Amino acid sequence: MADVKDLPGLLLPWYQQNKRDLPWRKDRQPYHVWLSEIMLQQTRVEAVRGYYARFLEALPTVRDLALCPEEQLLKLWEGLGYYNRARNLQKAAKTVAETGFPDTYEGLLALPGVGEYTAGAVASICFDRPVAAVDGNVLRVLARFLADERPIIDPAVKKRAKALLEAVYPADSPGDFTQALMELGATVCLPNGPPKCESCPLSARCRARLEGKTDTLPVKPRKQQRKTEDRTVFLLRCGEKLAIEKRPDSGLLAGLWQLPNGHGPGTPELALAQAAKWGCEPHDILSQRHKKHIFTHITWEMEGFDITCGREDPRFVWATPEELQTKYALPTAFRQFLEE
Ligand code: SF4
Repeated sequence: MADVKDLPGLLLPWYQQNKRDLPWRKDRQPYHVWLSEIMLQQTRVEAVRGYYARFLEALPTVRDLALCPEEQLLKLWEGLGYYNRARNLQKAAKTVAETGFPDTYEGLLALPGVGEYTAGAVASICFDRPVAAVDGNVLRVLARFLADERPIIDPAVKKRAKALLEAVYPADSPGDFTQALMELGATVCLPNGPPKCESCPLSARCRARLEGKTDTLPVKPRKQQRKTEDRTVFLLRCGEKLAIEKRPDSGLLAGLWQLPNGHGPGTPELALAQAAKWGCEPHDILSQRHKKHIFTHITWEMEGFDITCGREDPRFVWATPEELQTKYALPTAFRQFLEE
């Protein structure tokens, strides 16, 4: 029957044979592992590959990251979302560039933006520390393996999972054990849809499988309803240039660039009137498009008006297509209007 102490023996050989060839597994450099773990929070592996390669090409060392202008940093992060991750990476890089990488769990945990999971991952993978990195993947595997019916969102469940795992961490391969647990959760004991129990190295001992509970475990919290907000978005064009402006320094998408926008669903007449009020001398509406963007707690339903204008009002920055491509970080919520 399921016993946590069997996990290393079952998972490590399986991991050696089945691990995916991922760019951040080519070496154990803490900068590389740390960057990948931060990028992978809330983002799929396939989406991260390209970002990871571009980021390291532009900023190959921690010192390069520490010295990178914020505009360039946000541009490299553009589209990944949760932009505070990038800002915290840089804050931490400034410390690391001065003092070197901490090689303990506690030292890593003290860096800005590094939580228990990331500290555990870097400490075990890069510095052979026997500390667990417990994320949703690992909690799901454990909840199923042990048929634990307590909700995995409960901090006490996470704490217990960390303690149970750390009691059995293999001294000679802590990094591989961390990655084996993550890998099983990501590729076999799947979060959505049925787990692939037939190819799971834990299947003979897994209580959820033996008791027919793989559909109902782990117990998830009820999803909170997301608020919906209507917005009007303006694509104000003067020749080939497009108006953009900076968002406020706090709140959603803080400090990033945006297309001018406002509350409410908007109509062509109201959009033209607003563009005139801004002093942009609007001529015609070239097109009207509806787009949607889902954030963690809110959904934006956006009506976008593509308007030709006669005047570059200085309240906005008027960016060329090349500048929009290479210089300004425009979050996906707005960039999707430029994609057609
Ligand atoms: S046997 Fe199935 S439910 Fe159990 S850990 Fe493996 S994949 Fe997950």
